[in-house]
Amino acid sequence: MDKHYTVAIDGPSGAGKSTIARAAAARFGFIYVDTGAMYRTVGLAAARAGLPLGSEERIIALLPGLDIRFGYAEDGRQRMYLNGEDVTGLIRTPEISMRASEVSAMPEVRAYLLDMQRRMAERQSVVMDGRDIGTVVLPQADLKIFLTASARRRAQRRYKELVEKGEDVSFERVLAELEERDKNDSSRAAAPLRRADDALLVDTSELTLEESIERVCALIEGRMGGDLID
Ligand code: C5P
Repeated sequence: MDKHYTVAIDGPSGAGKSTIARAAAARFGFIYVDTGAMYRTVGLAAARAGLPLGSEERIIALLPGLDIRFGYAEDGRQRMYLNGEDVTGLIRTPEISMRASEVSAMPEVRAYLLDMQRRMAERQSVVMDGRDIGTVVLPQADLKIFLTASARRRAQRRYKELVEKGEDVSFERVLAELEERDKNDSSRAAAPLRRADDALLVDTSELTLEESIERVCALIEGRMGGDLID
C-alpha cells in the first residue's frame, strides 16, 4: 500500500468515537490518533500547576515548558506522556474532562497541538478523532465521519464506564457535565464542534458498539476499498 489514507472522525463527547476509531484503525492497519487526549494532557498540566479555571494567560505561558508525546502500547492503544511521565490513566477523570474542554477553547492551545496532529497524518495512514479534524486539522481527509448520539444515551455510556472504573459519580452529574461540555465545544469561537459539509453522519443512539464499528468500517472500505485490499 503506497498511498496513505486519512480518516477524520468528529463528534460530541461520549458518542463512542475513541473505541470505534481505535477498532477501525486496527482493522485496516492504520494508526489511531486520539486528539482529545492531547487537550486532556494540557488540562492536566494546568491543574497540576494549580491554575484556577479561567487563568488563560498563565495556561498559555505554561505551553513552551510542556513536553507532550504519544506512544503506543503493544495492543495498539495510545499512551500519553507529559514531561516523560505516563499520564494515560490520570487524564480520564471528570475534573480533567472539564479542564480539557476549557483549555481547548484557547486558540493558542489549539495552535500548539495542531502541528503535532498534522505531522502524525503526514507519513502514515491514520484514523484521527476529535472535534475539528474534518473542519480544521485534516480538511483534505479521504473520509470524514461525524459520529453522534443523543445526549442521554451518551451520558448513560459514560456513566457506566466511570462506575466500572470505580469512580463515585451520579448519573445526573455526568449528564449535566456532558451537556456543559457539548455547549462549550459547540459555541466556542476557536474551531467549534461542527459537522464538515462533506462528513458522513453516523448516529449511534440505537446501535450497539459492534454495529457502530461495522458501520464505520463499511464506510472506510466503501471509500478506499479497492486500494486497501492489496
Ligand atoms: O474527546 P475527549 O472527550 O477526550 O476530548 C476532551 C476535550 O478536548 C473535549 O471536550 C473538547 O473540548 C476538546 N477537544 C477539542 N478538539 C479536539 C479534541 C478534543 O477541542 N480535536
